[in-house]
Amino acid sequence: MSEDERRPATIAAQAAGAVDGATGGVVPGISMATTYGRGTDYALLRADNSYGRDHNDTVRQAEEVIRQLEGAGASLLFPSGMAAVAAVFRALPSGARVVLQSGIYHGTATFVRAYCVRRAILLDEVDAAEPGALAEACRSSADMVWIETPSNPWLKTTDIAAASGMAHKAGAVLVVDGTAATPVLTRALALGADLVMQSATKALNGHSDVLAGALSCSEPGQEMWQEIVRDRHSAGAILGPFEAWLLMRGMRTLPLRMERMCQNAQKVAEYLEARSDIEAVLYPGLPGHEGHEIAARQMCGGYGYLMSVLVKGDKARALDVVGRLRVFHRATSLGGVESLVEHRQTIEPQSGIPDTLLRLSIGIEDAGDLIADLGQALDG
Ligand code: PLP
Repeated sequence: MSEDERRPATIAAQAAGAVDGATGGVVPGISMATTYGRGTDYALLRADNSYGRDHNDTVRQAEEVIRQLEGAGASLLFPSGMAAVAAVFRALPSGARVVLQSGIYHGTATFVRAYCVRRAILLDEVDAAEPGALAEACRSSADMVWIETPSNPWLKTTDIAAASGMAHKAGAVLVVDGTAATPVLTRALALGADLVMQSATKALNGHSDVLAGALSCSEPGQEMWQEIVRDRHSAGAILGPFEAWLLMRGMRTLPLRMERMCQNAQKVAEYLEARSDIEAVLYPGLPGHEGHEIAARQMCGGYGYLMSVLVKGDKARALDVVGRLRVFHRATSLGGVESLVEHRQTIEPQSGIPDTLLRLSIGIEDAGDLIADLGQALDG
């Protein structure tokens, strides 16, 4: 069976075929060297290994797992999701025009706004989940369209194939932040994206113990990708080998974790939606969610592990509910095996997030325990 025919569970479980060549171990070792030897003729002992900032076998192998999961032409790892975001923006020429989805992860929006001002890049923020708004923004030529689907924390879903058509008509590359879906639920490149970004800190690693970011492209020959490759090489934003190894270990169970997290999230969302003390549950798996139809088309195997809930009442009531939770950890971030709850406005006070919004990242615990915990916290 060729690697292209292998399904995600096989790619992930076997870390894209990684073994330890030196010992025969079925798990690869960690290559910690920062520099590599040369022979008496001063030729490198291995032509592709010169210095640890250029590349490293452990990082390469973790990238290969991601490449195969994304169905990509090439993938690169970075020391965080934001380092990957920054690498994409650094590949733009000064004076470029960017269309950015509004209401996305605040860290991305904050970085992009400041960066675009510094580099005289024209930035248009639009509600890309609204096809009319994106079409309007793509009437003028652009260099890049950046979307995030499902979005954090609003859980808006954007039609990647439609966005790709609009971006390409404007002469732009389409970049998708697929963190909340992972390549297991959505293969953005097959739907027409040129680049896909993942915060590997989240579900890709899945154990809340590694910071990492990944970029993958459909066509490694494209100019923007070549610029990103050069940038990582010379600017040095490479992941450490230990983190790459941990990430590879985490990714072995990614499809399994996603299956359980999606099942749990669906049950939690349905439970919360049925409660009279909940104003709204934002989760693409609910038939009443405005992006459900798009999600049903472009996500396969589930609707993800992330949701936001608007609690009826005021900020004090929302914080009171959060304070009473015993199974959910009160912490920012998402995608780990343990469920997290976040009072988003506390984390992101300037962004107009309602003070009754709770963001839940659903883990792999027993769904009944999660539901019982939410129930007792809401009942008071
Ligand atoms: N993209 C999304 C959707 C995120 O939620 C985050 C972090 O929360 C990032 C990007 C940034 O990733 P990192 O924290 O790994 O830098």
